Amino acid sequence: MSPTRREFVLWTGAAAVGGLLGRSPLQGLLQAQQAAPVFLPLRRDVGIFTMRGGTVGYLINADAVVVVDSQYPAEARVLAAGLAERSGGRQVDALINTHHHGDHTAGNVVFRGSVGKVVAHEKAAEHMRNPPGGQPPEDALFPDTTFSEGWEMNAGHERVSARWYGPAHTSGDAVITFQHANVVHLGDLMFHLRHPVVDRPAGATLKGWHSVLGRVLAEHEGDTLYVFGHAAPNRAVTGGRAEVEGFRSYIEALLSFVESQVKAGKSRDEILAMREPLAGFEAYGPFGQPGPRDPLTCAYEEVVHG
Ligand SMILES: [Zn+2]
Repeated sequence: MSPTRREFVLWTGAAAVGGLLGRSPLQGLLQAQQAAPVFLPLRRDVGIFTMRGGTVGYLINADAVVVVDSQYPAEARVLAAGLAERSGGRQVDALINTHHHGDHTAGNVVFRGSVGKVVAHEKAAEHMRNPPGGQPPEDALFPDTTFSEGWEMNAGHERVSARWYGPAHTSGDAVITFQHANVVHLGDLMFHLRHPVVDRPAGATLKGWHSVLGRVLAEHEGDTLYVFGHAAPNRAVTGGRAEVEGFRSYIEALLSFVESQVKAGKSRDEILAMREPLAGFEAYGPFGQPGPRDPLTCAYEEVVHG
């Protein structure tokens, strides 16, 4: 199968699942770039798994196995097998979902009956059952443990926490911290050098997102290693505060750009037609299509309607 054909199949497959789980075609596109599974150790007992869908984080030590997000069922089967191999067949103590989107949670079903608990923010759990602007999934493993502000567990000699900082990419994004390893999984609070999905139907806000990232950065040390939900093709899905600050600046620049166009008297149609790259953020490329989860559309709606 030629790469083009394969990408097309992945794209249409992801788009079909996207429709089912209430994700946008843009998100389907994000998943088309990677197919070979990679387990990459990061620090202490913490690593990442990438295949197709949002980056998965994992912790394996002598006393615990913790997983952050699950991609799609086919990928989750590869993930589960790889975790079992690396942990000597130990059961997964906790599966934590960073938010409700299908490219992070559709694989949960693979862990049914073999996971101690499934954890998510209360809004993410609600949105998994009823995705705003989408259809409820036909099959799913929903969270049995939810929280509003924060949640923590001991995982052998590691301490794992989940924290909600406010609406951003959705209204239910959790930041997962492996405290001793000093690794922070940002889920889709971080799109590295690519335009983000802004799920306004699910309560996303760009102003909120900007402030959430500011608080996360303020609360973590300089050498914190961050895990990103998504990155542009051939870009790393982990990085330091500089990368997070870069994406935070993009959000600020996007809002300022739209504000200046509104002040200059441009109409909604005129502004939404401005698809060229944002000045200073050319690496992100041109904007995709207007729509309810498109960053430019969402910036306009937020600037004009709040
Ligand atoms: Zn997402």
